[in-house]
Amino acid sequence: MFHHFNPDECTACTVCTVHCPVAAATPRFRGPKMTGPSFERFRLSGLHDDASVEYCSNCKNCDISCPSGVPVSTFNMLARAAYCKDRKTPLRDLLTGFSGDIGRLARHVPAFLLNFGMKNSVSRLLLDAVGLDKRAPLPSFAPLRERRRLFRPRRPASAKGDTVALFPGCFISYYEPGVGLDIITLLEKAGYGVIVPKGFVCCGLPLLCGGLMEAARKRAGRNSREVARLAEQGIAVVSPCPSCALMVGQEYQALFPGETVGSEATPVHEAAAFVLSLVERGRLDLAAARPLAGRLAYHAPCHLRALGMGRPGFEILRQIPGMRIEDVNAGCCGLAGSYGMKKGRYEIGAQTGSALFAAIGESGADLCVSECGSCRTGITHGTGLAAEHPLSLLARAL
Ligand code: SF4
Ligand code: SF4
Repeated sequence: MFHHFNPDECTACTVCTVHCPVAAATPRFRGPKMTGPSFERFRLSGLHDDASVEYCSNCKNCDISCPSGVPVSTFNMLARAAYCKDRKTPLRDLLTGFSGDIGRLARHVPAFLLNFGMKNSVSRLLLDAVGLDKRAPLPSFAPLRERRRLFRPRRPASAKGDTVALFPGCFISYYEPGVGLDIITLLEKAGYGVIVPKGFVCCGLPLLCGGLMEAARKRAGRNSREVARLAEQGIAVVSPCPSCALMVGQEYQALFPGETVGSEATPVHEAAAFVLSLVERGRLDLAAARPLAGRLAYHAPCHLRALGMGRPGFEILRQIPGMRIEDVNAGCCGLAGSYGMKKGRYEIGAQTGSALFAAIGESGADLCVSECGSCRTGITHGTGLAAEHPLSLLARAL
């Protein structure tokens, strides 16, 4: 959990700047030390208004690497919100920020209509004109029946403590509900009843990244109250998206303390970490799993590393006898949510991801594995290889 930010906790060691992928890719970004603690001193006096903070991708490599525990990215987001407050929000930031609401509105529309409407060459030119680069990958909507299946009513377990609520997040809800269904299958195999409450909304991270702080705050309040309601019934919340787990489980407390219920961080478990704990407690038996054909390259998403719980998806898959998997450990994929989709950011994202894409190529893998949907989209765009959630592979192997 983050503590209150004090710029004087920064010792100016510049470790964060060394680990910042955006600072390495463009001279237009002044880097985390400058945009975070250094400029915070000016901002506290109302003296600074730096446009460079708009280049921060919120990947959190600065927070992960800072030896003094300064939450640099969180304060970059606050600085960005202050910078954006009195400026007109670009259409591209409205489209990416409210992409979850768009998905929800379109929940009864067949996928072929949505995907054609969004991805035909005229639409791509129009989107490019409003700031979404026509070269960038856009995720595809999943078939209507899969989106509906994820949200169909399910029964909780009869024993208290044996029900889990899935917080699917926008990516899984609209683009990859199959991953959510795979996780439900695994949790049911481990003896849980799984529900997918209708009360959850977008975690607000895409809004925060577009500087839309008030809209993000409203979502923080709604999700926090829903998590608290479930916690009162002894129901744990699990999310297949590391960014949603980070946002709801940690960032709300730092950014919107007035919206969280109680003084503790809202407890949300990242799904692979939750499943790994079930393996460790003997509720799932990996010895009974069959290895999958081919070689796998595992990529740890930045927001999973920011959660500070290791690489649970990799740990699970490598315990399956005969599974050939390598942790390529080569940094950020560059897409960083919707960052690499935006004009003027696409090249930065491509350069950032180039080390990862080269490492995946050198690994000889024929399939990539990562917990984050945005990373999977970026990796497929950068390497041409398919990418899956580790728990989808586990569901197939068990
Ligand atoms: S969040 Fe990422 S892009 Fe932003 S300053 Fe930190 S390391 Fe750099
Ligand atoms: S790593 Fe931490 S202490 Fe070092 S310059 Fe960055 S914010 Fe300051």
